[in-house]
Amino acid sequence: MPNITVTSPLLPDLNEFHQLLQEIWDSKWITNNGSFHKRLEAALCEYLKVPYISVFTNGTLPLITALQALNISGEVITTPYSFVATTHSIWWNGIRPVFVDIDPATGGIDPEKIEAAITTKTTAIMPVHVYGKPCRTAEIQAIADKYGLKVIYDAAHAFGVEVNGKSILAEGDLSTLSFHATKVFNTIEGGALVMHDAKMKQRIDYLKNFGFAGETEVVAPGINGKMDEVRSAFGLLNLRQVDAAIEARHQVAIRYREALCEVEGISFWNDMPGVRHNYSYFPIFVDAAKYGMTRDELYYKMREHGVLGRRYFYPLISTFSTYRGLPSAHRGNLPEATRMADSVICLPMHHQLSDDDLDLIISLIQR
Ligand SMILES: *Cc1c(COP(=O)(O)O)cnc(C)c1O
Repeated sequence: MPNITVTSPLLPDLNEFHQLLQEIWDSKWITNNGSFHKRLEAALCEYLKVPYISVFTNGTLPLITALQALNISGEVITTPYSFVATTHSIWWNGIRPVFVDIDPATGGIDPEKIEAAITTKTTAIMPVHVYGKPCRTAEIQAIADKYGLKVIYDAAHAFGVEVNGKSILAEGDLSTLSFHATKVFNTIEGGALVMHDAKMKQRIDYLKNFGFAGETEVVAPGINGKMDEVRSAFGLLNLRQVDAAIEARHQVAIRYREALCEVEGISFWNDMPGVRHNYSYFPIFVDAAKYGMTRDELYYKMREHGVLGRRYFYPLISTFSTYRGLPSAHRGNLPEATRMADSVICLPMHHQLSDDDLDLIISLIQR
């Protein structure tokens, strides 16, 4: 039986990696803003078309650090339809997450429902470009401006995504990225914060290194969020092949769309006009009444044949025990997110899926 996983990590050529490791060994500088760390930040700025970036050791610390850097407190408006790290970063800072329902057209927070959730304690909005699909950023920014709120985008899925030639990471006050092994671009574990000015870059660089601003000066209660030299070198090599990986994913998306558009009860999203997508995920939505099978029945049938899709994002974050007591976590407040979580399967999507893999996956979905 095959074992077709939802993703497969992008890995650099081992010989090339070995050469860079030799450089690191020779230098004996293995972490703390070394040369590969600097080279990775410069290369990412160029690739992502952003002025400033600070790389981190994973994708959760940038979320936690962003909230610290902007002095966020009280309540933060966010989406329940994401990976738990989004909400955990808020809670971990002693801030109350307030869940707002999603827009079924994008999977992101519904801007039309944000204002009703704002209270005197609200200080920020934390939307997610879920599956790399851009949120309705102009409407979100208009609300933030009206109420004096900060906007931190969890852009963990949105590496390389552009709208009309402009990086999606240019939106809001700060955006975070994850370079986890399962993401389009990975450094094994890793992540980053993207900011718009040198002052904020400086502040974040202090915060990710215990607040050290010099040998004997500590300017803030920082954390240790630093990326090391070995993984920075790994990232530099992966960056060279990420465009080819995205193109391979694009071909998989084309294949899925062609094959599944005729299947009654299965829906999916098409590309958005003007958007450079990264094809990080391929979610399909099962309408049980029309398809004749529930989402879970299809999910387990695929598993039985070695096709390991994932129900991202089910269950909703708001249903987990730490959050379900919050007033905004009530099901009735989140009908669209609940519907999406109950109908979604993310199909296998990566740069190494073979035609045979795709034939099998598609044949299991076609009735
Ligand atoms: C992967 C992910 C994160 C966390 O990233 P790590 O690198 O695993 O810490 C945060 N938010 C979302 C939406 C993610 O998918």
